[in-house]
Amino acid sequence: MFCLECGSDNKKMVEDICIDCFLKNFQLIEVPESIDITICSHCNSRLEEGKWHESFIPEPELIYRALERNISINELVENEIIDLEIKNMRGNIAECSVEVMGDVYGEKVNEIYDVSVRILKTVCPTCSKIKSGYYESVVQFRAKDRDIKESEYIKADEIVERTLNKQYMNDKLAYCPYRAKLKEGYDYYIGSLRSGRKIANALKDEFGGVIKESPRLISEDRSTGKGLYRIWISVRIPEFELGDFVRYCEKILQIEDIGKNRVVANDIKTNKKYRIAWNDVEDIELIKKAEDIETVNIISKSPSKIQFLDPVDYSVIDLDVKDGLEDDVGIGDEVKVIKIDDYYLL
Ligand SMILES: [Zn+2]
Ligand SMILES: [Zn+2]
Repeated sequence: MFCLECGSDNKKMVEDICIDCFLKNFQLIEVPESIDITICSHCNSRLEEGKWHESFIPEPELIYRALERNISINELVENEIIDLEIKNMRGNIAECSVEVMGDVYGEKVNEIYDVSVRILKTVCPTCSKIKSGYYESVVQFRAKDRDIKESEYIKADEIVERTLNKQYMNDKLAYCPYRAKLKEGYDYYIGSLRSGRKIANALKDEFGGVIKESPRLISEDRSTGKGLYRIWISVRIPEFELGDFVRYCEKILQIEDIGKNRVVANDIKTNKKYRIAWNDVEDIELIKKAEDIETVNIISKSPSKIQFLDPVDYSVIDLDVKDGLEDDVGIGDEVKVIKIDDYYLL
């Protein structure tokens, strides 16, 4: 066998030409000399075929990925190693080199290509919404029949921030362009409805309460008749707090736990625990605050009763001791009581 191109007869053959003649016209890869990519100048997301992809990728990485997408490797190449390098940035053009090493019919081949990647910058629709202060929902943080405490506002701000940070991975409209401070509470304006709802739920997880949504028609598309709505989501946290006393179904209960799904409260007469769903919160009436608990000294004791002086008018109060607790209290001991019509021992 001799090469039909060069006539040599002592070389490895690829069909009817020698390996050297074959490699003269062989390329390990195909890659264009120049590549254009369009990215958003705010979030670095990339426009491809009318769709925006991947955001917050650093620019060098965007360039490497553009090169990778545009390289096609010849199927005869084995053990290939591709080395990408940005040699120089000239304005918005990255001058790159693509070095390829690989084996072709057992021969080591090495090639270097120069490729320029041009970065075209624009603003993606999401970022242009954000820049214009666009929002889809307003989360209203309120309390039922009371002022919200400073510590609750601080906690709420933390929850909003934490939730937005978490959401931001999947929702670029997870942002809060405005926060309005009103006398009755804060209004958080939220870019997307999805993240607005997440925030409302996170607030409820922390404080308990009731969530209500009310859509408001903002404008109407005349051609389709479709309305554009913004959703106001109110989170109304309860009037009562931990340790407070409430009336519920004729019973006097002390609030023990406030959770996202229910309130746990303890009957101060029987010690029986009640779990009350937020749907029934309207039936819970606040009657005394935890701060109203008084500490008194026992002045005398009979088998099932204790006596102490009323802190207000110093009259002697006679109080039943709960079953099983008779031996736990003695004369001179301090006990906690709450006055709700009558006194109750806690
Ligand atoms: Zn040849
Ligand atoms: Zn963007």
